[in-house]
Amino acid sequence: MHLGDVDHATHLFGLATPSGILSTTGVGGLTLGGGIGYLTRKCGLTIDNLISADVVLADGTFVKANADENPDLFWAIRGGGGNFGVVTSFTFKLHHIATLYGGPMLYELSDAVEVMKWYRDLIKVANDDLNGYFAFLTVPPAPPFPEHLHLKKMCGVVWAYAGPLTKAEETFKPIRAFKKAALDLVGPLPQPSLQGMFDALYPPGLQWYWRADFVKELSDEAIAQHIHFGNALPSMHSTMHLHPINGAAARIAKNATAWSYRDATWAQVMVGVDPDPANNAKTISWAKSYYDALHPYSAGGAYVNFMMDDEGEDRVKATYGDNYERLVAIKSKYDPDNFFRVNQNIKPTTK
Ligand SMILES: Cc1cc2nc3c(=O)[nH]c(=O)nc-3n(C[C@H](O)[C@H](O)[C@H](O)COP(=O)(O)OP(=O)(O)OC[C@H]3O[C@@H](n4cnc5c(N)ncnc54)[C@H](O)[C@@H]3O)c2cc1C
Repeated sequence: MHLGDVDHATHLFGLATPSGILSTTGVGGLTLGGGIGYLTRKCGLTIDNLISADVVLADGTFVKANADENPDLFWAIRGGGGNFGVVTSFTFKLHHIATLYGGPMLYELSDAVEVMKWYRDLIKVANDDLNGYFAFLTVPPAPPFPEHLHLKKMCGVVWAYAGPLTKAEETFKPIRAFKKAALDLVGPLPQPSLQGMFDALYPPGLQWYWRADFVKELSDEAIAQHIHFGNALPSMHSTMHLHPINGAAARIAKNATAWSYRDATWAQVMVGVDPDPANNAKTISWAKSYYDALHPYSAGGAYVNFMMDDEGEDRVKATYGDNYERLVAIKSKYDPDNFFRVNQNIKPTTK
């Protein structure tokens, strides 16, 4: 089941649960790793809205995981990924969110230093209703993007304001006053329309490579590195996103769920993508070099759903921080033979 299927069922009733930024992403993996998207600053991560899950354990047992039944398992599956069992059903809390005021606002790459510094300072103090991820991107050669910008490398913010619509224009007044954007597609739209806006850009079958970090502070030195690599996007699909995770997600205690990095400001991800495997070397090399240059400015761990399979145990430990030992104990109880190991693996003590 994809995020779009959930939106399809809930939007009819004027409701939504926070998930991601593309409607084609799977509910299962996104939720179990945390879930970062357009509603994170207002409603928290997807796991912060998970009420209950049905889980088939490694020995075939069927159990429920929620605050009352198997609370240790419930704690672990909120961020611990597919380590503990196969989830066959999720129950989510819904919010009265039907229409957003959002979309991309793009600027020339020559303005990127100024835009990034302004965005950094704005998002740190923004009201929770306002979400916006910064991106380096290549403008897709298709509507609604105007032809004169097609295939141009640009930077910008994809905004999602989920507050009262009567306050939307007022909220965006200072944003629009900062600088006239080269493209401003921000306006009122149904929540599923924003979630599906970039689906066509990323159809199944593309070659993906990504590297990620959590980031607390975005220093001027880090921004200088970002500009270098943002100017060198290796393909039309390649991108870099800074997804804000401050706001509602940051007000949950670090040890309330397995998801530890509640004090980070952004989940940063360098994404090398291309349809042609012949271009893999180019996109992978860009993503790796970009990551290597920015990692020294990061908080240490990374969002598990933006990590590659081969990053190793130390990266997994860094990601879970103080929650790691508890995860190991729960893994040892529910999956002592490490049956579920094709993931960001948490090894049981027995293995
Ligand atoms: C195009 C694209 C856009 C993305 N956008 C976002 C985004 O906006 N926000 C975000 O947070 N992440 C995003 N991601 C990352 C995404 O969360 C992960 O790729 C996630 O693993 C996708 O889940 P899936 O169910 O589609 O994956 P799958 O490939 O089906 O599964 C990946 C892993 O998740 C686990 N898993 C999946 N389903 C279950 C289940 N039912 N029970 C137990 N374990 C399970 C398993 O370990 C499995 O190996 C994006 C990824 C892509 C490719």
